[in-house]
Order: sequence, then structure tokens, then C-alpha cells
Amino acid sequence: MNDVQPAPRQGQGPAHYVGGRFDDSGARFPLVSPADGTVIGSVPEADSVTVDRAVRAAREALAGPWGDTTAEERCAVLRRIADGMEARFEEFVAAEVADTGKPASLARSVDIPRGIANFRAYADLAWGRPEQSFATPTPDGAGALNYTVRRPLGVVAVVSPWNLPLLLLTWKVAPALAAGNAVVAKPSELTPSTATLLAEVMDEVGVPAGAFNLVHGFGENSAGAFLTAHPDVDAVAFTGESATGTAIMRATAERLAPVSFELGGKNAGIVFADADFEAAVEGTVRSSFTNAGQVCLCTERVYVERGIYDDFVQAVAERTRELRLGLPYEDDTQMGPLVSALHRDKVLGYYRLATEEGAKIHAGGGVPAFGDERDGGFFVEPTVLTGLGQDARVVREEIFGPVCHIAPFDDEAEAVRLANDSPYGLAATVWTTSLSRAHRVAPRLHSGVVWVNCWNLRDLRTPFGGVKASGIGREGGEHSLDFFSEPVNVCVKL
Ligand code: NAD
Repeated sequence: MNDVQPAPRQGQGPAHYVGGRFDDSGARFPLVSPADGTVIGSVPEADSVTVDRAVRAAREALAGPWGDTTAEERCAVLRRIADGMEARFEEFVAAEVADTGKPASLARSVDIPRGIANFRAYADLAWGRPEQSFATPTPDGAGALNYTVRRPLGVVAVVSPWNLPLLLLTWKVAPALAAGNAVVAKPSELTPSTATLLAEVMDEVGVPAGAFNLVHGFGENSAGAFLTAHPDVDAVAFTGESATGTAIMRATAERLAPVSFELGGKNAGIVFADADFEAAVEGTVRSSFTNAGQVCLCTERVYVERGIYDDFVQAVAERTRELRLGLPYEDDTQMGPLVSALHRDKVLGYYRLATEEGAKIHAGGGVPAFGDERDGGFFVEPTVLTGLGQDARVVREEIFGPVCHIAPFDDEAEAVRLANDSPYGLAATVWTTSLSRAHRVAPRLHSGVVWVNCWNLRDLRTPFGGVKASGIGREGGEHSLDFFSEPVNVCVKL
């Protein structure tokens, strides 16, 4: 039986949101704190009936008031959502921290502000979009007026991961709504809480019923698979593992639904001998260990010019050993736990494999012993490795933990070759003080984004996505609005 609750609903834990109503239906599974391993709540798992109801609610919204909104009205809705999130900022922080175990300072400075900024940015971008039209009425033209209108895709599924839960969900939900689609979102089973708060905000600020729907559950044989395989879902925007992207592509292939995929990475950092040494060390530590290495953009492979290699390895290892691991609300915490016991075991498996493959460990390599409640959490040590060849699994496979492998190179061509020698191509970082070198190297890297002397410096208007196994398509700015709409050419004979 469905336990349908009247809105408004505030802070009662994860629930589905279907057709403007909160709904706790389905078997429940536990929500576990990564910081100490305790059970902190439970989550309802949507079955195929609930997913079907969500898709139907979205379809009905398109046929109802939501489908009739003007761009201006939709932008106003997005701004109201941002305001509503702002008003509950600390609740969002607390929910994100509880689900992920990440430092509260990180949730406060990155996850939640960016989640809010996504709505504001896409309100501005959608409103600022120029209409295209051109006429050729003169004798040398074809005597026609051509213009382009953009239509929404329809019902869009948004499936998102656990590492930056609110940020990555809203990154797709905001442009999808701005472009006039109706959304059914499925956040990660590990991080359902901020998505539920977002549904509460949508409810509070009067987003028309069915424009945004939320279902919880797992991927395979669960809500994720039911949603992406649903015949009435017009497009899928997905962020997660490359292997999941393959599974979703199979599920959508039959009906040829468009997909936008932001997938895994095995990102390279290249440090030239002429780099600002301190900035490169600090930047490498930040790019490898932010969010315990659980950012798709994190650097797991570092290539350093031989002249500074030994000093660089030593400096990064020292800085890594100094990182303070701790609970989310401790002021001096720089790194939290991994998201789950399963993920911790996967990362520790790679630490063991590194030793088996012959790596030298310069920092970390195991599990920290705290002697307090943190020992129940899913902490691993930030780890610095050297000594492996390009064929080692630890150098080829995405680990998605706080670990980097550092290897030397002799010249620019070798650095580019090593960086490009990967099945992935999401992000790369180049550290050099030579302007010419930076501009020479950056476009030769097979990567969706290349940072020069910085890492994860983001402008939401720029194209974002990966090449090779790191993704299909680009999001960000106009690119998101392009994906979430179809251009229609109208040709009027004059
Ligand atoms: P995941 O692929 O395991 O899960 C992501 C989402 O997909 C979850 O909601 C999950 O329930 C769902 N899912 C899983 N199997 C499914 C299936 N068969 N059908 C439909 N849905 C399914 O990824 P994760 O472990 O949550 O996230 C970590 C991964 O995400 C890493 O590989 C990381 O690199 C990647 N990532 C990429 C980006 C990017 O922008 N490129 C950003 C963040 C994370």
C-alpha cells in the first residue's frame, strides 16, 4: 500500500516524490553513516509500478500547466527553487554530510552552493538564449524565412552518483527543467537525502506537480534499470561509472533514446620542471585527495619531468602524510571516509594490488587506526605510489579513492603520450610556467577538460564531459540546453 502524505513535508527522511506527492512505498533498505558505520535511517526502494507512476506523472505534467509555461516562467521557477534551497542551506549541508561523511566545510563551500548555483546559472542561461532566424527574401536568396524553435525532449530520466550528490543531480535537473522537460530523477542509493530535500523545496515553491519526480532505489534490477528501460522515457542524462553507462546504453538502444553520459576517469597530471614547484605540489595533493579522491576529476596518474621527480615525490608524500583525517564536523578535518564499506574494500583491494604489482608506497597504503568511533567508519589512508608501468592495473583502472601514482618522463612528447595512454579521457592538468608549452600541450591531450596551473576551476558555461570511456556528449552552459531540447527548423515560403 502507498503511504501518501500531504505536503508540506519537511525533513522526514528519504521518500519518493511522484506527481507532487511524497510517497514511502516499497521495501526499505538501510542508510549507513560512512563516518562511523552506524545505521542512520532507511530508504524506500521504488518498484517498477512506482517508477511507472513517476514517468506517467511526468508525461501528464507536459500535457498540463508545466507544458504550457513560458521560458520566462520556467526561469522564475528555477530562481524560486534556488531561493528555497538557500533558505534551508544548513539542512542541505547536514543531509549531504550525513550521507557521504564528507567534511562539512566541503559541503558548505562546494556541494550545496554549487547545487543552488546550478539553478541560478541555468535560469540566466535559458533566459539569455537568443532566438535564431534568418530570411532570404531577396532575388538572390531562396525566398524563404527560416527560423529555429527549440522543443523540450519530453520526459527525461536523470540518474546520478553518490560522490557529489546534490551538485551532480541539479547539474542536470536545472537545465532539463529550464528547457521545459519533465524530470524523473534517481539519485544514488547511498545518498538519497539531499534529493529528497530538493523535492521538498520544489513542493514548497510551487513547482507544478509532475514536473519533477523522484524515485529511490538501486541500479540493476531496481529503480535505476526500471527507469532507464522505461519505454516512455524520452532521454537519459546519466553520471556514474563507465560500465553503468554501457548498461544504460543497452537499455535505451532499442528505442533510440538520446543519452548524455558523464562517466569515469583516470585523470593525468603533468608536471614540467619549469613549473612553480610549490603550486604543483599543493595542486597535486588537492587534485588527488579532495573528497577522499571521490571526484570524477581527481588526478590518479601524475607524470613528473625527471629533473624534479625525486623532490616532487618526496614533497607530495610529506604533504599527504600531513592530511588530517576526521569526522565531518571537526574543524581541522581535511579528509573524510569513503562512502561505503563496499567502496572502502574496493579501494583497499587496489592498495593490495599495487603492492602485488610491485609499487613502492611513499605514504599511506592502509587503514588509519584512530582508537575511537571513527574506527567504525570507512576511512582509508591517502596513498602515494611510484614504480609501476603503464600496463599495471593500478595505473589503468579507475580506483576513485585517495590515491595517486607518480611516474617520471623525459620530454614533452613522452608526457603527452603517457597521459593519453588510457582508456579514459575526462580531465587533465598541466603544470608549467611556459606559456608556449601550456598552449602546445593542452590541445594534444585526449581529455574533455585541461586545466593549466589549476585544478577543478569551473565556469558553468563551459563545455563539460569526457572522451573515450569518460563520456558521451557535453553538458554545461549552452551544451546542456542543447542536449535537453531539439532544434526544429521552420521554413516559410515568402
Ligand atoms: P554507478 O554507476 O555505480 O551509479 C550511478 C547511478 O547509476 C546510481 O544512481 C545507481 O543506482 C545507478 N545505476 C547503477 N546501475 C544501473 C543500471 N544498470 N541501470 C540504471 N541505473 C543504474 O556510479 P557511482 O559508484 O555512484 O559513482 C562513481 C562513478 O561516477 C565513478 O566512476 C566516477 O568517475 C563517476 N562520476 C563521473 C562524473 C563525470 O562528470 N564524468 C562525475 C561524478 C562521478
